[in-house]
Amino acid sequence: MMRHFACVVVIVLSAATLAGQSRTAKALNIYVVDVEGGNATLFVSPTGESLLIDTGNAGAGAVRDATRIMEAARDAGLSKIDYLIITHWHGDHYGGLAELAARIPIAHFIDHGPNVQPAQAADDFLRDTYPKLHAKATHTVAKVGETLGLKGVQVRIVTTAGQVLPSPLPGAGSANPYCANFKPGDNNAEDPQSVGSLITFGRFRAVHFGDLTKNKEFELMCPSNRIGTVDVLLGLHHGQDTSNSEVLVHALKPRVAVMNNGTRKGGLPEVMRTVYTSPRFEDLWQIHFSVLSGQEYTTPGLFIANGIDDQPSTMPIAPVPLPAPGPNTPPPPAHDGPAHWIKVAAQEDGSFTVTNARNGFSKTYGVVPK
Ligand SMILES: [Zn+2]
Ligand SMILES: [Zn+2]
Repeated sequence: MMRHFACVVVIVLSAATLAGQSRTAKALNIYVVDVEGGNATLFVSPTGESLLIDTGNAGAGAVRDATRIMEAARDAGLSKIDYLIITHWHGDHYGGLAELAARIPIAHFIDHGPNVQPAQAADDFLRDTYPKLHAKATHTVAKVGETLGLKGVQVRIVTTAGQVLPSPLPGAGSANPYCANFKPGDNNAEDPQSVGSLITFGRFRAVHFGDLTKNKEFELMCPSNRIGTVDVLLGLHHGQDTSNSEVLVHALKPRVAVMNNGTRKGGLPEVMRTVYTSPRFEDLWQIHFSVLSGQEYTTPGLFIANGIDDQPSTMPIAPVPLPAPGPNTPPPPAHDGPAHWIKVAAQEDGSFTVTNARNGFSKTYGVVPK
């Protein structure tokens, strides 16, 4: 009898060891994966249920990005993805999906509906590949206001297909003082369609808006703030200046932002100024250093998860101007080697710890009055 009991204990212990090296128990764990200026953000509830928002890049980056997402899924001890949200039909968001789906089962696919920005690759993917990927799973089109059925963690859709939450959430709805100085901004047809989510775990609140642009931020946040305040702002459209207006960032009052920028994508001076001047703001964490920030605007290296394959010993002080797009544009500094995530471990009391997997630097943000 004793021998039998000991055997059971050994099995339980080894299973616990396999199920995650850095996933924090009793926490909502959020892995912001480096997909080179695309998006892939994995949420894992305390009971091991999961939501993945986006799947990284298409083309040459798809295998690399799916592999990096799988490293996070393995760290969290996942054997399947319960919910996948594709925020919109750009290659840096849906691109790694076919590669990922070949590596791990996905139970429920969510998107904003048809592509509205005709593009050969996205249209081919939606006609030929996507239906096969979700054929044996559940596939739904997101609706504003709906919540996903994760246990213990509430995920509420607040924007999709150009629609925004029509009325304030409970406790929200105060006048937004930043609306008076709003400067419009837009860029293409698909970014404003982004599926935006509010993720709540006890008193902890985080948002991820995909690549939602300024004009939609205004619709969501003006004249009254329909969301309230948040602890963590995720994504930030890679730190692009067609998003991240003060009506959104300053009114949400995040304590922490985690930016999914690339080596030469986002981290733009205007966005950095907006983030650093936001009320209540404590720290910006970045998936990459960006040459577009220069030392003038960059966050300290402690808070940056990735460099480049051929890392220079110094960084220019002035931001490097974005080269004009065209066939002769040099590629951005490459980072195809080992990559590191930024992990947020959130507690139900609203406190949370952010960790940079590259250098192990970690900081805990304690409970504050809402
Ligand atoms: Zn990288
Ligand atoms: Zn994007």
